[in-house]
Amino acid sequence: MKCQLCKINEADKTNTHYLSDNIIRLALNEKGSNIREKGFYFNISTDEKFVDFNFQRNTSIPQIEDHIKREISDLDIEKSTAQTPFSVDYIFCSKCEKIFTEIENNFNNQILVKFRNSDLDNVEYLEFLNENEQKTLRLYFYLQIWRSAICDDNIDLDETTKESLSHFILNYNETNIEDLKVFPICIVYLQTKGEAIEYTRNPVGTSNDKNPFLILMNDFIIQFFNDVENVNKIDFNGLNNFNFEQYLNINGNFKIKVFSNEKRIEFINSFLKNEKVERFVSDLISMFILKWKEETYNPISTDIISEFMQSIYESNNVLNLSEEFINTKITEIINKHK
Ligand SMILES: [Zn+2]
Repeated sequence: MKCQLCKINEADKTNTHYLSDNIIRLALNEKGSNIREKGFYFNISTDEKFVDFNFQRNTSIPQIEDHIKREISDLDIEKSTAQTPFSVDYIFCSKCEKIFTEIENNFNNQILVKFRNSDLDNVEYLEFLNENEQKTLRLYFYLQIWRSAICDDNIDLDETTKESLSHFILNYNETNIEDLKVFPICIVYLQTKGEAIEYTRNPVGTSNDKNPFLILMNDFIIQFFNDVENVNKIDFNGLNNFNFEQYLNINGNFKIKVFSNEKRIEFINSFLKNEKVERFVSDLISMFILKWKEETYNPISTDIISEFMQSIYESNNVLNLSEEFINTKITEIINKHK
C-alpha cells in the first residue's frame, strides 16, 4: 500500500502513533502497563483509570447493540490485547514519519514546555504572539486531526478537508501561517497537578462528533471545525463553559484555554459519569472472552459474543447490573456451548 501522506512511497513504517506518543503515553501507562492488562471493573468511580477507548456520544441502549456488532466484527481477539493503542502499521512511509517527527519536535521544544513544566496556577489562557509558534501549534494539532482521520473511523473528515490538511503537513516548511488559518480550532489544556499517576485519569480517545471533531488527548483537548461558517459549541461535560468564541483561533494570535486542576477533575468526573455506557460494554465483552478462554479450549465466535450480550440486554437495567448477575450470565452461555 502507498503511504497515505505522500501517496508515492510504499507505506513501510510500523508503530506510527497517530496521536503523539509523548502526549498520550502518560495517560495510558501506569508503571509501564496499559489498561488492558489491568483487569476489568463495573462500577465507574473517580479513582478508576479511563483510557484507550473511543466513544459514541448520546449512546442509547439500542445504539449500543449496533456498536457491539461493529466492535465484534473488528475484534481480532488475540491481537487486540497486544496492540499498542492509537498506533498503526504500514499506513505511512519512513520519509513522511520524519515530517511527523519534526512537527512534533517543534511542538515539544517550543510549546509543550510552556504547559507541562510551567506553573499554570491562576492562568486562564496562554496566548502565542509569535508567528513561528502559531505555525507550530496549528501544524501540530492539524497533524493529530489528519492522522486520526486516516486511522480512526470516529474522525470522519470530508475528503476536501483531509486534502488541505495533508497538503499543509507535506509542505510544512513552506506553508505560510496565514494559509494555515483556514480552520477554526479550539484547544483546552487540562492542568494536571500531583504525581505522574494523575495523568492516567485524563482520557484519551476520539468521539463520533462531526462539528466539532473532538479528540481527547490526555492533557490537551482538541476541537476542530472544518467549516468556518458553521462553528458549533457543544455541550460536553462543561468543556465549553467559558467564553468559547474567543478561543476559536480564526484570526489573530493563537490562544489556548487553561483549565485549573480542580476544573480538570470536575470535567473528568462528569465525563466518566456521562460517557460510561460504551466502556461498560467493552468491559463486559472483555470479561466474557477472558472467562471463555479460561473455561473452554474452543475458539470463540462473534455469534457467541452476541448471544452473551443479548442475554445481558434482556435484563431490565443494563447499566445497573450486579457482578453476580453478570457472572451468572457468563456461566450460562459458556456451559451451553461447552
Ligand atoms: Zn510518505
